[in-house]
Amino acid sequence: MTSGLLIVGGGLAAQRCCEVLRAAGDDRPITIVGAEPVRPYDRPPLSKTVPAGDVCFRPAEWYAERAIELRLGLAACGLEPGRRVVALADGSRLPYDQLLIACGATPRELPALGGFANVQALRTLADAARLASALAGGGPLAVVGAGLIGLEAAATAARMGVEVTVIEAAPRPLAGILGPRAAAWLTALHRACGVVVRTGTTVAAAREGRAGAWAGRAVAPEESGATNVRRLAEPEESGATRVRHVEALELSDGTRVACAHVLVGVGVRPATGWLAGSGLDPAGVLVDEAGRTALPGVFAAGDAACRPDPRTGRPVAGGHWESASREGAAVAAALLGRPARPAGPPSFWSDQHGIRLQCVGDPRDAEEVLAHGDLAGDCFELDHLRDGRITAVLLAGRPPSALRAARARLHVPHIPVRSAA
Ligand code: FAD
Repeated sequence: MTSGLLIVGGGLAAQRCCEVLRAAGDDRPITIVGAEPVRPYDRPPLSKTVPAGDVCFRPAEWYAERAIELRLGLAACGLEPGRRVVALADGSRLPYDQLLIACGATPRELPALGGFANVQALRTLADAARLASALAGGGPLAVVGAGLIGLEAAATAARMGVEVTVIEAAPRPLAGILGPRAAAWLTALHRACGVVVRTGTTVAAAREGRAGAWAGRAVAPEESGATNVRRLAEPEESGATRVRHVEALELSDGTRVACAHVLVGVGVRPATGWLAGSGLDPAGVLVDEAGRTALPGVFAAGDAACRPDPRTGRPVAGGHWESASREGAAVAAALLGRPARPAGPPSFWSDQHGIRLQCVGDPRDAEEVLAHGDLAGDCFELDHLRDGRITAVLLAGRPPSALRAARARLHVPHIPVRSAA
C-alpha cells in the first residue's frame, strides 16, 4: 500500500494543492497534519473584520468525500528524509511517498514585550478571537509595527471606535513595500480615520500595570486567615506565576503610549524550525518553480518556502496570499507531471478604512513614480519605474479587475528556471 501525499500544515497552500489534485482526478492518499485544531481556513479576513466569522475553505464533508484525512491539532516535529517519515508531537510517525511542507509562518516576537498577558500577535483564528474580545472591552490599543497586518487591524479597531496608536520604527508605514508618496497618502488616510500613527520611534520598554493578578489557585478565607475575602495564593504558596499586564509603552523618543492591549505586527518567519537536522534549512525551505526542495519527494509551498529575490539573490519567503495559492497549485501540477509555469511577479492586496490597495511587481528601489488619478480622492494608480521600465503598480480604491491591466503594463524581469539543489 502506498503512503501517498503527506502535507504538513493545513492552510492555503495545502488547500490549493488538494483542490488541484482532486479536480484532476488524482486519487492518491492525502493526509494533512495541521497544528491548529481547525480545518484549513483563509487568513485575510482575520485582520479586516473582527470577529472574522466562518473562514474555513470547505466543510468537513468536502475532505471526507475526497478521502483527504485531516489530522488536526497535531504538529510535525521532525523529518527523517532517509526513511521518508515525519515525526509528530504525539510521538507517532507518519510515512510518506511525497511530502509537502506547507506550514506557513510564525509571527516575530519583541523580547521587550514577551510574557505579558495583554500582548499578542495576529496569525491564527485563536489570535483573532483574542483580539476581538480585547477590542470589545474598549481600548486603547497599541499596534507595534505598521506592516499590512498591523495597519489593517488598526483600521478595524478604529472602525469599532477603539482608540488606536500605531508605532513604527521606520520613517513611514509599510516601508518595505511602499515608496514615500504612497506611504504619505496611507499615513494621512489613517490619521483622517482617527488612528494615531507614530513613525521613526521604537518601543524602548513596557511599563507594567500594578493591577497584574496572580494566576493560580484561589486560597480559601480560612486558609488565608482573612475573614471575608478570597485572595489568590502568592506564587511561593501555589507555584503559580503572576499574570503581567502592560499599561503603557515607553518609546525611544521619550514619549509614552497608554494601552489596554498591544498587537505586535513586526513580520513573520517561516514556521520551519521542526526541519532542523533534516538537510533542509530550518530558516525557510528553498524551492524551485515547481516547489521542489533539494530532498527527493519533498516539496514546499506558501510562507514556509523561499525563492531567490530577483534583486538580491537572497532567499525570501512570499508572505502573501497569491503566492501561497499559486505555489500550492504548482506543487500539485508537479505531482501530476505537468510542466512548471513561470512564477510571475509578486502581488498582494490589503483593505484599510474601506479602501482596497493592490500591488503587483516590486515597488522597492523605484527611481520614479508616476501617479494617475486622484490621491486626495483615494482612487489612483502609481506606476513605479526603474531604468525607465515599470517594475510595479500600486492601485488604491480601484476594482480587482484593474489589477489585470496593471499586470499587462508591467515589465517582468526574466528569472531563469533554477534547481533547488
Ligand atoms: P498558512 O495559511 O499560515 O497555513 C499554515 C498552517 O500550518 C497553519 O495552520 C499552521 O498552524 C500550520 N503549522 C505550522 N507549523 C506546523 C507544524 N510543525 N505541523 C503542522 N502544522 C503546522 N495576504 C494577502 O496577499 N493579502 C491580505 O490581505 C492578507 N491578509 C492577511 C491577514 C492576516 C491576519 C494574516 C495572518 C495573513 C494575511 N495574508 C494576506 C497572508 C496570507 O494569508 C498568507 O500568505 C497565507 O495564508 C500563507 O498560506 P500558507 O498555506 O503558506 O500558510
